[in-house]
Amino acid sequence: MQQFTCPYCGPRDQSEFTYGREATSVPALDASAAEWQRFVYERDNPAGPHAEWWHHNHGCRQWLEIVRDTLTHEVLAIRAARPPEDRG
Ligand SMILES: [Zn+2]
Repeated sequence: MQQFTCPYCGPRDQSEFTYGREATSVPALDASAAEWQRFVYERDNPAGPHAEWWHHNHGCRQWLEIVRDTLTHEVLAIRAARPPEDRG
């Protein structure tokens, strides 16, 4: 089983995490329907490094951005999806 090293909890089994979606910027609330279409329904699906949002739902319950190689499953980077100063 693969392990992810959560920046808050340390190394944890992947089963503690839930995949969210590819990491990308969220459109503004008044963005066009085409921009929201792209954000909600379209995915890049690259072969290689891919930034993804994962939720540590059985740990600290924080959203993380994980850069993972989709060919090898190697984890290249893990960081908080939002820096601590941005959390409400
Ligand atoms: Zn955690």
